[in-house]
Amino acid sequence: MNRIVYLDHAATTPVDMAVLDEMKPYFMQQFANPMTFAHSSPGDAAHVAVEEARKRVASLIGSSAEEVAFTSGGTEADNWALKGVMERVSRERLHRNGHLVTAEFEHHAVLHSAVALQRQGYEVTYVKVGRSGIVDPDDIRRAMRPNTALVSIMHANNEIGTIQPIAEIARIAHEKGVLMHTDAVQTVAHIPVDVRALDVDFLSASAHKFNGPKGVGLLYVRDHNSLYPFMDGGGQEGGLRGSTHNVPGIVGLGKAAQLGKERLAGEFKRLTVLRNRLHEKLTARIERLAANGDMECRVPQNLNIRIDGIDNEPLLMAMNEAGIVAAGGSACNAQETLASHVLTSIGCDLKEAKSSLRLSLGYTTTDRDIDYAVDVIPGLVKFLRSMA
Ligand SMILES: *Cc1c(COP(=O)(O)O)cnc(C)c1O
Repeated sequence: MNRIVYLDHAATTPVDMAVLDEMKPYFMQQFANPMTFAHSSPGDAAHVAVEEARKRVASLIGSSAEEVAFTSGGTEADNWALKGVMERVSRERLHRNGHLVTAEFEHHAVLHSAVALQRQGYEVTYVKVGRSGIVDPDDIRRAMRPNTALVSIMHANNEIGTIQPIAEIARIAHEKGVLMHTDAVQTVAHIPVDVRALDVDFLSASAHKFNGPKGVGLLYVRDHNSLYPFMDGGGQEGGLRGSTHNVPGIVGLGKAAQLGKERLAGEFKRLTVLRNRLHEKLTARIERLAANGDMECRVPQNLNIRIDGIDNEPLLMAMNEAGIVAAGGSACNAQETLASHVLTSIGCDLKEAKSSLRLSLGYTTTDRDIDYAVDVIPGLVKFLRSMA
């Protein structure tokens, strides 16, 4: 049994062959620095490629090209949005102490940025999220203070896949003159994402979550004056983010964005069917199985279940041995034996969190993969329960 059934696409995805092909020339042939472009200079090809990628990304998220700033990934985009806005607010003394509103179940890129801001004297409110895994906009409204500068709520959660009412939350923020950021790393290229419809000021995305390369992502920035640069340097990205462009990475991100847009509608339908089949079959074959978070308002590629009486660590190990790769918490928690902060934030107790499993599908997931998973996992659960 050498087949690997990879059901951990929420952690990362394989690079698409077409993406890799498009990146290749930019390592050795078109290696020039895009900032050295001048008419028919070697920098031209690199510059053109970077700007083409920017257009493709903009087309995927419904923005203009000028509003897209390339970053080293989703983590940097999140850090930048939070710290860049709060720093501007404090340095320009718009408020004495800026206040940030976010949620307990955010990715650590947001949560740990928020904690870092608190250490610097900023105020942060972490709203709670109920069992549905969906933030209540009224909780955001209640969290607002006169000095609130930014609201940051993720578009879909990376562990339970639940989709948040971002447009509604953005409206609440804007009514108070507050800026709105969303971490859309789990939704871009998976469900329709339109920055105008969401009415956000900032949006983070990452290439490796939709079959692009690792180490490249973007921050959508509606108004370049609304935040400070995060990387001071040579004035790249319109002075917003210094550092020589990661040309092959950016080209890869652009190609992945183009493919993501072309495939979105078809993949949305296909993965919804596959995910629902996975859920139904596992529910039919495993007693005392429950879903974590709302099943309706959820990205199609995510299933998160808890299996009563099971510890997810031995289960994941047994699955691994059977060739199935999945996750307990998020990849960033992988070393911790602690329960997932996302699951505890939505009201799971430690035991429930430790009995939970995230199965995440992607472009390379096949019908056969799902058939194999529903054939194998129930037997492993039965075995582990008999050992307990
Ligand atoms: C993966 C992920 C990130 C981090 O993106 P990187 O490109 O790996 O830094 C941030 N937020 C969410 C929701 C994610 O799933």
